[in-house]
Amino acid sequence: MTIRLKHTAIAAIGASLCLGAGAASAQEFITVGTGGVTGVYYPAGGAICRLVNQNRDETGIRCSAESTGGSVFNVNTIREGELNFGVVQSDVQFNAVEGRNQFEESGPFEGLRFVFSLHPEPFTLVARPDAGINGFEDLKGKRVNIGNPGSGQRATMELVMDRYGWSIDDFALASELPSREQAQALCDNQIDAFVFTVGHPSGSIAEPVATCDAQLINVTGDTIDGIVEEFPYYFKATIPAGMYNNAEDVTTFGVGATFVSSTDTDDDAVYTLVKSVFEGFDDFKGLHPAFAVLSKETSATAGQSAPLHPGAERYYKETGLR
Ligand code: GLU
Repeated sequence: MTIRLKHTAIAAIGASLCLGAGAASAQEFITVGTGGVTGVYYPAGGAICRLVNQNRDETGIRCSAESTGGSVFNVNTIREGELNFGVVQSDVQFNAVEGRNQFEESGPFEGLRFVFSLHPEPFTLVARPDAGINGFEDLKGKRVNIGNPGSGQRATMELVMDRYGWSIDDFALASELPSREQAQALCDNQIDAFVFTVGHPSGSIAEPVATCDAQLINVTGDTIDGIVEEFPYYFKATIPAGMYNNAEDVTTFGVGATFVSSTDTDDDAVYTLVKSVFEGFDDFKGLHPAFAVLSKETSATAGQSAPLHPGAERYYKETGLR
């Protein structure tokens, strides 16, 4: 063991000496904010960093993905300069650019930059089979996990509650558990339902379905139609029959997961990351089943509210994607 470690350390020193002498400069570290470990953002960040790190000898860039509280947390932490990149819901990206809702106090984030988009994320309502919940309206008076502050689902849930004219007092309990804890809370009968804006399939949904026969519930009706009509980044979404234990399609609305950065992250680092992901796009799609629907053309353009990062623009121009 000791010997192996020594060898590794020596190899690492050798590699950095080589890099020092070659085209690439000293190692540069880039960080990616994701979400809870049972969601899709976390494996997405891992997959992106894996592709970036495969080219490390050539580029000198080392990428690491971190589990975080989710979209709003990622935006705020990029803004503070503590993260270079983050996965962020398209509605949260829009709000950050405009300084709306959860960003009203901090104001518009002018340095936020779009890099690419990822998978669709249906707003997913999951309920205990004994809770008598057949639609979003049935959440009234129930014990509901509305998401931790900082998560994207909390941001979207607040909009839906607002449009229903509800406050947290309309629930018997409004818990704020992070996504990694909501499955167990549901199966332990501490809550009747939770909402999670997430790509499918996701471990966070598969777990309570397998453990306590949790049910996916449609989120439909005039209020939801109104939200989809009002904002360009919301769309009608379906979770296909058989994805979990659902015999039929589950109908709801959704957002897109997007990948963002800021003007504080240099163009070369963004260019290198985008190039690594797009040149390894088929590998990337194979790294999680939620990515199977992705195409380069859509990823280069969809879900953009913030200006395009110049490093990403350079790659898209070179390859004719934009
Ligand atoms: N959409 C969620 C958020 O913005 C995270 C989903 C996931 O972890 O995959 O916080």
